[in-house]
Amino acid sequence: MRRPDTTAGAVRQGSLRELNLAVVLGRIAAAERPPSRAELAAETGLTRATVSAVVEDLVNGRLVAEAEPTPRTGAGRPARGLVLADDGPAGLGLEINVDYLAACVVDLAGRVRHHTVRRADLRPVSPAETLARLVELAGRARADAADQGLTLAGAALAVPGLVDDAGLVRLAPNLGWRDVPVPALLAGHPPLTERIDGVPPLVVDNEANLAALGELHAGPPGPASFLHISGEVGIGAGIVLDGDLFRGARGWSGEIGHIPVRPEGRPCRCGGRGCLERYAGQEAVLAAAGLAGADLPADTAAARLAELASAGDPAALRALHDAGTALGVAVAAVVNLLDLDTVVLGGGYAPLARWLCPPVLAEISGRVLTAAWSPVTVRPATLGPAAAAVGAAGSVVRRIVARPGGWLARAS
Ligand SMILES: [Zn+2]
Repeated sequence: MRRPDTTAGAVRQGSLRELNLAVVLGRIAAAERPPSRAELAAETGLTRATVSAVVEDLVNGRLVAEAEPTPRTGAGRPARGLVLADDGPAGLGLEINVDYLAACVVDLAGRVRHHTVRRADLRPVSPAETLARLVELAGRARADAADQGLTLAGAALAVPGLVDDAGLVRLAPNLGWRDVPVPALLAGHPPLTERIDGVPPLVVDNEANLAALGELHAGPPGPASFLHISGEVGIGAGIVLDGDLFRGARGWSGEIGHIPVRPEGRPCRCGGRGCLERYAGQEAVLAAAGLAGADLPADTAAARLAELASAGDPAALRALHDAGTALGVAVAAVVNLLDLDTVVLGGGYAPLARWLCPPVLAEISGRVLTAAWSPVTVRPATLGPAAAAVGAAGSVVRRIVARPGGWLARAS
């Protein structure tokens, strides 16, 4: 199975009705203010009668709702606009990371309606036990969604490792996972089992990819091409080019944590030496700051480091400077190769961006050939540590907006 395309261009050919549903729903989703039926007809070139029929299907399928009337100044009836329904289908986003599990529910409009994080060091826990705990978290998310009138229409799971198209986690070095068949281990666990529109109920993907997608769709439209770096125990990157995730030829792109920054340096769990992760990963930074053995969850570790750095602690400041320098060496290589103008520091890096950005920018300016006349922006992520779970849930709802026919067939 290929991972489903989440773009609006993924409309299935062959059905005019499905095409019209997708076009009208896409316009409503993208509109800055609720459009009326007449405006939709004018924008799409469809007849008023066709738009009315399509909107009726979308309203009956709980994809679209009538907005509260907006009083018009002057004569005439108040405008009656259309919005995405807030009690229709929703996406379940799940995340397994080294030291926490997370579940979140995102509605059609991209609003986060539920978010739970359960902390635990998962390295000594078996994959089956980890997934059993995740199922429990998913069940609670589902119940909360149901209480809010939402129906989960699919799920996506973010894992910190290399995932193939069938959802097999080939390798998650920091969890100690190798060849873990996640969909098979989750079989029989609602809400992760009901297939919709030919798409499996659960899509498994790399957390850095899903975090980059979360950032791409968070808030107002940002740059169409950027590098999103998730800094946790491991370091992963999502590469977004022209508004799409660049996965690479076999889907393994983004392993920035294993770019060597000192070729003869410290040995890495991957088998190589001198990888970025060994100098800018959470464990390396905590050790350099004198917090070794603290075994803190990523956001707690970041908060503790930020606290120390804010207080002017020399060891923390030096650790962050050295981590930022190593990060900048790797980032400069990526920017030289791909000509990206924006680098987003996500995950545990987001709250530390104030201290990491200057050394990263220094390395970029010293190593990127074009930096003198084409500056690169380095900034913290909008979503921070929640990005992967939110991005996972968002990928489910964007699939429904792009291809509403499958949901409507199921809902009818
Ligand atoms: Zn490595």
